[in-house]
Amino acid sequence: MSVEQEKTNENNDDIIVIKDLNKWYGEFHVLKDINLRVKKGEKIVICGPSGSGKSTMTRCINRLEEFQRGSLTVNGVEMIEDVKNIEAIRREVGMVFQHFNLFPHLTILENLTLGPIWVQKKPKKEAEATAMKYLERVKIPDQANKFPGQLSGGQQQRVAIARSLCMNPEIMLFDEPTSALDPEMIKEVLDVMIELANEGMTMLCVTHEMGFAKKVADRVIFMDAGEIVEQNTPEEIFNNPQTDRLQLFLSQIL
Ligand code: ADP
Ligand code: MG
Repeated sequence: MSVEQEKTNENNDDIIVIKDLNKWYGEFHVLKDINLRVKKGEKIVICGPSGSGKSTMTRCINRLEEFQRGSLTVNGVEMIEDVKNIEAIRREVGMVFQHFNLFPHLTILENLTLGPIWVQKKPKKEAEATAMKYLERVKIPDQANKFPGQLSGGQQQRVAIARSLCMNPEIMLFDEPTSALDPEMIKEVLDVMIELANEGMTMLCVTHEMGFAKKVADRVIFMDAGEIVEQNTPEEIFNNPQTDRLQLFLSQIL
């Protein structure tokens, strides 16, 4: 067995493997020696001050961002400068952003079937049936024929989650999915995410919703200034922070 094969086998359990990842924006060193392994089905919450690199790291995972050093493997596919690999990884990874990024001129159903029809070449009827299944999962099947602007922020974010699920991803990334929502809508989005977690989805969530973290996270990762400073169970992170940086951060958000 070659060294490369052994390496792959050693990683069998890990759906995401990030090794010594470094990224610069020009002179600015935004990600510094990031090492992270995520097991299939694991739920990870990423927190840290604004500007610490949470979005950049998350976006590297589905190649919305490039990086300059290190390696990143998603579901056995290594991220290299190859369009085919990038497409393969994007198929595995769904992403939900702070802003919902729905197409305003398309109905909810059309927003949900666009990717499956044009990217995955699914027949329209099948794509629509899948879309309705996921709209039921996020509890808004009655909104299928409306336009995004006619829905509340919480409903639009649930549509965005359903849209990702329609592509049948192995991993879901969430980047502050509730931070643009009015307080009364946060819970309905978190409830959908909790259900998804309970169904076994592998999830990485950038969020400061610590109730959510305590409920679903297997591990909380604390980032500061481009580094993973601490990672541990939610209990340990919240009750027993090891660094001044995490203590300071917790005192600001709790
Ligand atoms: P977070 O999500 O933790 O708030 P980001 O990953 O968005 O942090 O940003 C990390 C740092 O990188 C910030 O200082 C930000 O200003 C900088 N940054 C983000 N995007 C760019 C970009 N496209 N060009 C230059 N600097 C950027
Ligand atoms: Mg961010």
